[in-house]
Amino acid sequence: MPFSSLGLSPPLLRAVGLRGYLAPTAIQAETIPAVLQGRDVLGSAQTGSGKTAAFVLPLLQQLLTGPHEKPRRVRALVLVPTRELAAQVGETVRSLAQQLPQALKVATVFGGVSINPQMMNLRGGADIVVATPGRLLDLVDHNAVVLSSVRLLVLDEADRLFELGFADELGRVLALLAPQRQNLFFSATLPPAVLALAQKLLREPVRIDVLAGPEQAPDIVQRAMAVDAGRRTQLLRHLIQTNGWRRVLVFVATKHAAEMVADKLRKARINAEPFHGELSQGKRTQVLADFKASRLKVVIATDVAARGLDIAQLPVVVNYDLPRSAVEYIHRIGRTGRAGESGVALSFVSADTLAHWRLIEKRQRLSLPLEQIEGFEPVPTEPSTDEAGSSPATGGIKGKRPSKKDKLRAAAARAG
Ligand code: AMP
Repeated sequence: MPFSSLGLSPPLLRAVGLRGYLAPTAIQAETIPAVLQGRDVLGSAQTGSGKTAAFVLPLLQQLLTGPHEKPRRVRALVLVPTRELAAQVGETVRSLAQQLPQALKVATVFGGVSINPQMMNLRGGADIVVATPGRLLDLVDHNAVVLSSVRLLVLDEADRLFELGFADELGRVLALLAPQRQNLFFSATLPPAVLALAQKLLREPVRIDVLAGPEQAPDIVQRAMAVDAGRRTQLLRHLIQTNGWRRVLVFVATKHAAEMVADKLRKARINAEPFHGELSQGKRTQVLADFKASRLKVVIATDVAARGLDIAQLPVVVNYDLPRSAVEYIHRIGRTGRAGESGVALSFVSADTLAHWRLIEKRQRLSLPLEQIEGFEPVPTEPSTDEAGSSPATGGIKGKRPSKKDKLRAAAARAG
């Protein structure tokens, strides 16, 4: 199906062509006509599906046909959970609006940076605001923006908005909008609180579900590797070097781990930077820009980066620490294999995380062979030789790695 059959106006079709999109993705083919008909939408979709353009294109068209007032009043609001996603969606809106006959003003607002330039930018109003909820409310409190004319609301990654504790802020924002409006609601998952909000917000929504589980996800090869926890950095280094990977996103559990692993890689002359919520916004933006421009080979990130980020040609994602949940796993691995490219998602599994890994596998209906990389085979935990000879030992002796001979001796002793 071509884009031209979806009811979009010629300037938007030109903009789509300039971005190099040849045909609509599944979510675009379903969402665009529904939004143009004025319907509310409940979309289950994750980043990588093309959902941003799915709501931005018809949103722009709706604004073109709507009334124009001076000064500009905010007519469309896109709420997103993270600063990076705000910046990314704002950029997509600007790019797709480029060919329109009349200029639409887009304001992107998010926290972590000075509020003053955002206040200045909102002087004279804006047609479209892309925002994280907290900063948007700050701007409302400063009388920098009025939302009572918003007739088109997009909630992007609604589940993440809840997870990040934005439920109260969302409630406050919703109360400020025009009661008669079109609502588009996108979420990768629909836990009860999110579903309840969707039910409250949406009027007879068109339900669009293009959520692929990772097992059907486009071209993502998933692999799991058994490795002792203490040797993960070495294995990572080894994999980067032997595979000649040029761009790798590595997920860790904590800010400290992000700093530490990046530091160790740098010491091994691998160009790596940490990426986490405690870095300044300037630094985060810089790291991402360097990564996208291939000035940086490896980014070691906490889950701040798991959602929303669109980095074209990201061939490898590594779970150095396993994600907390199966849902987070989907988001992490969804950073690769985007828009028709192929990707690899590797998960490091050690003795103490094996049970958790099995749970993720079960939830994802996966069953991956636990690979061992030569030279990094985990040291088997020896059965303890307590009097009863029954309870298994929980770990080896720190700092002492049994040699091959030790292992053979232990095996012989067990057999004998
Ligand atoms: P999203 O899911 O919105 O984050 O989009 C994922 C990636 O797909 C982005 O790099 C988009 O530019 C790209 N994309 C969106 N729509 C299309 C399309 N119809 N054809 C090719 N690429 C697309």
